[in-house]
Amino acid sequence: MGKKMNLKAKIINPFERKARVTCSMCELSYLARNYVILYENEKVAFFKMKVPSQRLKIYCHDCLYKAVHNGMGVLKELKLEMELIDHTVNLLFSK
Ligand SMILES: [Zn+2]
Repeated sequence: MGKKMNLKAKIINPFERKARVTCSMCELSYLARNYVILYENEKVAFFKMKVPSQRLKIYCHDCLYKAVHNGMGVLKELKLEMELIDHTVNLLFSK
């Protein structure tokens, strides 16, 4: 394994989501119609992300950062590309 890793996370668009959304780590869960309201009030956002050796999973924003941190393992640096609804943000994690 190299010394750097890149991960991609894609937001679950609350305006398109029809089904309940549930975080795979903490089990925080909302009906689609409540997710829209909470998202619009900047209370919560859910993302899909695939960490190497794991399947694609759904994370709430808190757990997303925990999963990224856990996924770093012994790495010193990790880039996270977050695809939001209308733009992309690149974050650099280091320890
Ligand atoms: Zn969570």
